[in-house]
This record gives sequence, structure tokens and C-alpha cells, in this order.
Amino acid sequence: MRKSADMNACRGRFAPSPTGPLHFGSLVAAVASWCEARARGGQWLLRIEDLDPPRCAPGAAEDILATLERLGLDWDGTPMRQSTRGAAYAAALERLADHVFPCACSRREIADSALNPQGEQVYPGTCRGGLPPGRGVRSSRLRVDECEIEFTDAVQGRIRQSLARDVGDFVLRRADGVFAYQLAVVVDDAEQGISHVVRGADLLASTPRQIYLQRLLGLPTPHYAHVPVALNAAGEKLSKQTLAEAIDPSHPAPALAAALAFLGQSPPPELARARARDLRDWALAHWSLERVPRVRAR
Ligand code: GLU
Repeated sequence: MRKSADMNACRGRFAPSPTGPLHFGSLVAAVASWCEARARGGQWLLRIEDLDPPRCAPGAAEDILATLERLGLDWDGTPMRQSTRGAAYAAALERLADHVFPCACSRREIADSALNPQGEQVYPGTCRGGLPPGRGVRSSRLRVDECEIEFTDAVQGRIRQSLARDVGDFVLRRADGVFAYQLAVVVDDAEQGISHVVRGADLLASTPRQIYLQRLLGLPTPHYAHVPVALNAAGEKLSKQTLAEAIDPSHPAPALAAALAFLGQSPPPELARARARDLRDWALAHWSLERVPRVRAR
């Protein structure tokens, strides 16, 4: 196992949104982040991303924790819950006041603005210079200056994004008062002292926004590794919306073996019938981020 003083300081995390039980897609992120943190002799923390109450399913957080426990993916400390963190997000928004402007635009009003290469809307700057006459404030947006954000992802390689061109000014607090994921994740990764973020490549395009916020807030930038996202037969990301099947908590070993294979780790076939904990121990002893396929989805 690789260990040094620096590596001992490693802190990873798994940050599920409790929209439903753990499915294969979220299991892949959990397994990759657990293996990377533990193989570095580090800690693994949990964060329940229950920012958006209508999207949360009752009991889902407890369900996810129980399944992780059955898989032997043990965590350090008490899981953080974003629903308790409003004051910290408000304080961060306050610190960004010089860079934030009130925005009156509804989603529909900016629906026909330009799209970036990922097919996301680029904010056209409508309220940047002030609210149009007679319009009320809906959301708070961050003014994005012309700049390139560059970082090296441990799986995906060198990533470069022009925030102004590909994203535009982005929302930090939504019209319904909910703080945006981008702000919450930056504040919470810093609060939890996360040094290594390992998560699905669907979030790769969000990372430059998060790095930009870290710089404005004077927070450290963690190392990033974005693992491939699991697709269903129709080529859609596994999620609650695409009706991904829940991991069976009473028989989790096959799913764990499949997640390891998906991550390029090829556990020996005889271990497919082993107990989840034996597979987990094999994964820890043999984990290699270099073997994770360098693709964004598969
Ligand atoms: N809560 C997000 C999700 O379940 C993950 C956020 C992150 O890892 O930064 O997709």
C-alpha cells in the first residue's frame, strides 16, 4: 500500500443525493472514492446532499447508509447533511457579494440562449448590468470574468474550460431560495477538509465552476478524479429518473464485483461468490486508479 506523510492526510468523500436507494451508478462512485481514500491510508467521509427537499425521498439517506454498511464501505465521523448547512452557504454568498448580482430571468426566458458543447445553456448576461425596469429579483448569480480554468483530472487528464464562454454567469441561489449545488459543494468540501474528490464524470463540467468559487472564497482546490458514468441499455445515465434498480442490501456482493469490474479492477471470478467484505478487502489491496477506463461514460 502506498503511504507517506502527505498521503496520510488524504480525505475522500461520497456525497449522494438521497433521491432514492443506492443503485449501480452511485455504487460506482462510492466504491471508487472509498478505494482511493483507503488505499492512500486516508479517511472517507459522507455527505448527504439533501439541499433540495422536493427531490429527496423519505428514508433514502438511511437506506443508502445501511447499504454502504452491508458493503463494508465504512466511513469516518458523522455524515454531514446539507439541509443543516444553510447558515454556512449564506455566509459564503455574503463573502462573494462583490461578485454576485440579482437576476430576474426565469428558466423559460433564457431557454433559447446559446448552448455550450455539453448542451447546457450559457447565460446571456441579461441582468448583469442591473435588473430590467419593473422586474423583481429571482435568483442570485455569480459574475464570471473572462478566464480559462485548467486542472489535471487523475482519470480524464488535462481539462480546460472557458467559464465565460461555456457557462456564463451562474446561479448561486435559486429563485425558490435553495442554494445551488455548485456553492454548497465548494463550501462543504472545504468544511470537511476533502483533499481527493472522486465522483462521476457527469460532474466534470461542473469542476471549473467549483475551482473558480474556491479561488474567490480563498479555499483550497482538492485533487479530482472523475470516473466513468454507468449507462443503461438505452445509453442513459443510471439514476432514479431512468429507473435504475436498487442494490439488494441483503445480497450486495455481485453488485460490488460488477462495480469493481466496471472500474477496470477485474476481481478474480471466484470472488464473485464471496462475501462483500472479502471483495472489499481484495479491492483495497489491489486498487489502482490507473486501471480505471479513461472514458466519461460506458
Ligand atoms: N450529490 C451528487 C450526486 O449524487 C454528487 C455531488 C459530488 O460528488 O460532488 O450526483
